[in-house]
Amino acid sequence: MSVHCPVCDTPSDSVSVHDRGLMVNLLDNARYRRVCFEPFERDGRPHVRFYHHTHEQVGAGDVELTDAEPTDAESAD
Ligand SMILES: [Zn+2]
Repeated sequence: MSVHCPVCDTPSDSVSVHDRGLMVNLLDNARYRRVCFEPFERDGRPHVRFYHHTHEQVGAGDVELTDAEPTDAESAD
């Protein structure tokens, strides 16, 4: 299941909610490429949502760009 991330407009693998400080280190993370943070308020207290993006979702893997246009040069009459 993927959740749409409102920060970078990309599907995210999971969402977590935090109401206190924490440390994030993605340097050695094999699963996630980046995490977006969205602050919000619940019951008058500040929270932050973490949107976890996998490498595939961010497109950091094998990105394949194909712009092959159909050739339409056969106009013999
Ligand atoms: Zn994001």
